[in-house]
Amino acid sequence: MLRFHNSLSRKKEDFIPLEKGKVKLYTCGPTVYDKAHIGNFRTFLFEDFLKRVLVARGFEVFHIMNITDVDDKTIKKSKDEGKPLSEITSYYTDLFNKDLTALKILPADVYPAATDHVGGMIKLIQSLMDKGHAYQTGDGSVFFSIESYKDYGALTKINLAGIQQSQRVESDEYGLDNPQDFALWKTYKDEDGDVSWDSPWGKGRPGWHIECSAMSMEYLGDHFDVHCGGVDNKFPHHENEIAQSICATDSPFVNMWLHSEFLLVDRGKMSKSLGNFYCVSDLFDKGFSAEEIRYIILSVHYRTKVNFTLDKQHEAKMGIQRILELRTRLADLGTEPTADFPNEIDGFNAALEDDLDAPNALAVFFDWIRTTNTALDNNKLSNEDSAKGLNFIAYFDSVFGVLPGEQSVPQDILDLVSEREEARKNKNWAKSDKLRDLINSKGFIVKDTSGGQKLSSK
Ligand code: AMP
Ligand code: ZN
Repeated sequence: MLRFHNSLSRKKEDFIPLEKGKVKLYTCGPTVYDKAHIGNFRTFLFEDFLKRVLVARGFEVFHIMNITDVDDKTIKKSKDEGKPLSEITSYYTDLFNKDLTALKILPADVYPAATDHVGGMIKLIQSLMDKGHAYQTGDGSVFFSIESYKDYGALTKINLAGIQQSQRVESDEYGLDNPQDFALWKTYKDEDGDVSWDSPWGKGRPGWHIECSAMSMEYLGDHFDVHCGGVDNKFPHHENEIAQSICATDSPFVNMWLHSEFLLVDRGKMSKSLGNFYCVSDLFDKGFSAEEIRYIILSVHYRTKVNFTLDKQHEAKMGIQRILELRTRLADLGTEPTADFPNEIDGFNAALEDDLDAPNALAVFFDWIRTTNTALDNNKLSNEDSAKGLNFIAYFDSVFGVLPGEQSVPQDILDLVSEREEARKNKNWAKSDKLRDLINSKGFIVKDTSGGQKLSSK
């Protein structure tokens, strides 16, 4: 039985999907006004990990990740650059998709864009108006009345008296019944340029929170299983989503809320002035592989802050190398594939099922690697155990995704391997050794096994 920490109850709860064997998952996507940074990707990688665990444990996952392509930040960027909003947002959406693929993040089933769903947002706002949960201010904007919903604050137990108005509200001067009320519909202002939609409340655009309520319910229904985001999304974004969704539909909204902690760089916030503000491409330029980035981020529990430092690359490299080495040793035994696993699979799964405890799962896995290597050193690993081991490694990687895919070997390396084959046939050991060194200098390792030469990347 899977158990997750539900931010709503602040407890670990058994995970029981609404429909047996199926999971409806919504994850808040990027605001496409700039390149996403590795902090954003900590959250997206956590969500990928959750999804991979669900799939590995036999669930069918239907996953929606929205693209926030209209809000204050996207409009400001389009104005600053003097380009149409859609040009800005499609440029950053493409970059985001490239990073997702590069980091081996499993694609969502649908990536709805907010600008394609304004009709659904208007319907939700209308329903809130009809039920007395929303009101129009003097300038035509529409606000949600938090006093109209007695359970407001259930997610964060926020002390409303103590909080400031949110930045997004503060920037606009509306006449509100209550300073904490939030915008559902923002009336058109000159600085919005050509970004506007018609609505029963006049020309304007949706507020940010209503976007996610409309898109999640459009694809997953009024009531669905899991909603995720980073901790900073809890308030006000998710708190407001809950209030407006429940009030609009009179239905429960989301059963489980999962939030990942922040990623810090050098123990602090990433900052351009400190030179430690990293996007995925910056790390690739520094020589990180996607697998190393995944390893560094996923080896920390998702509810613990990750401290990202460049020197963690070494640890990641070593960890990945140990797994690859064992995989090569087991593959060299040439055993038939099996669907069975070593006994350690139970501890590994138990860790994953206990609120995605990746550090514990890795500890179980690396313990198994150590004992398996010892058995191999002593010629005590049966063919059956070797086959089970290969299966375990494949299962492990279906969840962590930290092993490089089979690399295609360049033709010049293949030619050197054939040349070496010839030299060995002729017992020209000096030439064979020279060729091995040459292959090595080109980034590949060649080993002589009973089945012939075996090539792997360094
Ligand atoms: P945004 O594009 O600002 O809407 O953010 C996209 C996602 O990244 C949200 O789920 C945020 O909670 C998350 N996020 C932003 N900064 C960080 C960070 N430093 N560490 C972890 N997650 C973050
Ligand atoms: Zn959202």
